[in-house]
Amino acid sequence: MSLKQFLLLLFTVLGLTGWLTATFNLLPPTVTFYLQFSSATLALLTIGYGALKALYTRIFSMDVLATIAIFASIFSGEYFPATIVALMLIGGEMLEDYAQQKSSKAIQKLVEEQPQTATVLRNGQEIQVKPQTVQIGETVLVKPGAKIPVDGIIQKGTAYINQASITGESLPTEKTIGTPVYSGTTVQQGAIYITTTAVGEESTYGKIISMVKDAKEKKAPIERTADKYAKYFTPLILLIGLTVFALTQDLLRMAAVFIIACPCALILSTPAAIVASIGNAAKQGILIRNGETLEKTSKIDTLIVDKTGTITKGQLEIADIQSFHPKYTPNQILQLAAETEKCSEHPFAKAITKTAQQKGLQIPHPDNFEHHPGLGVCITNNNDGTPIITGNTRLMQKYNVQITPNAQNYLTNHENKNTVILIAKQQTLLGAISLSDQPRENAKHTLTQLKKENGIKQIIMLTGDNKHVTNNIASLCAIDKAIAELMPADKAHKIQTLKNQGSTVAMIGDGINDAPALAQADIGIAMGLSGTEIAIETADIVLVTDDLSNLPKLLKIGKTTMTIIKQNITFALAINIIGIALSSQGLITPLMASIIHESNALIVMANSLRLLKIR
Ligand code: ADP
Ligand code: MG
Repeated sequence: MSLKQFLLLLFTVLGLTGWLTATFNLLPPTVTFYLQFSSATLALLTIGYGALKALYTRIFSMDVLATIAIFASIFSGEYFPATIVALMLIGGEMLEDYAQQKSSKAIQKLVEEQPQTATVLRNGQEIQVKPQTVQIGETVLVKPGAKIPVDGIIQKGTAYINQASITGESLPTEKTIGTPVYSGTTVQQGAIYITTTAVGEESTYGKIISMVKDAKEKKAPIERTADKYAKYFTPLILLIGLTVFALTQDLLRMAAVFIIACPCALILSTPAAIVASIGNAAKQGILIRNGETLEKTSKIDTLIVDKTGTITKGQLEIADIQSFHPKYTPNQILQLAAETEKCSEHPFAKAITKTAQQKGLQIPHPDNFEHHPGLGVCITNNNDGTPIITGNTRLMQKYNVQITPNAQNYLTNHENKNTVILIAKQQTLLGAISLSDQPRENAKHTLTQLKKENGIKQIIMLTGDNKHVTNNIASLCAIDKAIAELMPADKAHKIQTLKNQGSTVAMIGDGINDAPALAQADIGIAMGLSGTEIAIETADIVLVTDDLSNLPKLLKIGKTTMTIIKQNITFALAINIIGIALSSQGLITPLMASIIHESNALIVMANSLRLLKIR
């Protein structure tokens, strides 16, 4: 028990005993007087101490008003009401703390559920270590019922994995060799050996925790507004209360004004709602960086989407490989392409290197690697020093590679459905690879829903890919407008233009080439799984599982949060103003005032807790 709680208990017991013995004439009046008087004095000291402490740090807090109010009650001989007022204020504060804790519980739970140990295989032995000390590449064993401690890829075994902790989806899914698994998720059945790819703060679960923690610290603009009002509120109330006293000479009226006008509910109106929503969203796989982001989310009217990896699955299939040079077989073209793509994170690179590996081709490690976002890649090897270039026609132009009529024909034939990548050595075009990608299953449904139900007025696709594929995907997914062949800076520039025209823009993307646009947009949203590090770091919001259907959820959470905050503020202010008017007329006693004041704050808290339930 804290000192405050002890004092609260002591003055309540003293006060109640005094009141009961006085009411039923059980003790001599002097004794009941001392009981009530000492209770009220203790109450005054308890609240007054808090007020002094705040004044010492130059905060003119509501405790000052409360102290004056209790003092005024005692001075008017109203001892028992003075006790009750203090009881309501301190007890109420404790209740609010409790409710506040409940709203951050979603966040606390995330931290508490962090995996504590990892079983690693070292020198053929299973040893228990702390998850953050596991090295990348080490093998970790996860047994049934255990939490996966690191991010990794299954190298042996099959398991049913429950990913509720990062996706909110509680149905377990079967995962087997070669599939990625994420820290914080649980193996329900089966045991697996995984090759570690990320640990600690770099792991999926680590990132969730650090983002959610950051989110709590930074205040939303609306929250700052409420704080600002609260700051002016207290001196204003002091002035009103003193005026009432000057006009009526009634200390108790002044006391009632002070108590009912305390802006507790107003101060609580915003943070409770924001913390509840950020926690709720995190549990469903949506990481929102801070309250400001959440507030802006409610105003989005334009959605910009990237194509490859965002609207499409980004799991590309090689549809065709073509050689334009008599000395190169298609397999050799693939091998060259794989060599250039070895260091790239782009979905194309993954598809090409994977196919080359499956065909058993040797992929040497390049000595020099250069990445051109939105264009392609280029390597040079020290043994012969000639550049090998893999990318689109614009990259070929950049390196002065002639597009032969042969190649032009190939492009015309394949670019309708697929993305074609060209491979050149020095200035000679050697071959082409044609890659096909599919829209994500729920893309069309989600985008349609966003426009029908979530107030999105237009959806525009911005991509670095060619016009034909782009238009094809756009028409499959109910996208209003698509602009192709953009460089990373063009994407950002387009967003700036939309913002200048008065739109509030959200951009969702996954690649390095999306990072400038994500930063430029009012809200940047990154794909959490397929997204590159830089996209995730630049974004304000991360969809942990790449699930597009979280977009409508996100917008709903944003809108509802703002609605609830506005309800809270209106309600809190209205009660304050009506309360002040009635108290100054002598229609509310200090005792009633304290009850109304406390209920006001609790109603605001309860209203905010509704946000924990949005699905
Ligand atoms: P999106 O904007 O749709 O996500 P990107 O900007 O990532 O697409 O890619 C745009 C184009 O740049 C691709 O269609 C491809 O032609 C080229 N490109 C980008 N990265 C690579 C790469 N690693 N290898 C080959 N081509 C690439
Ligand atoms: Mg992309």
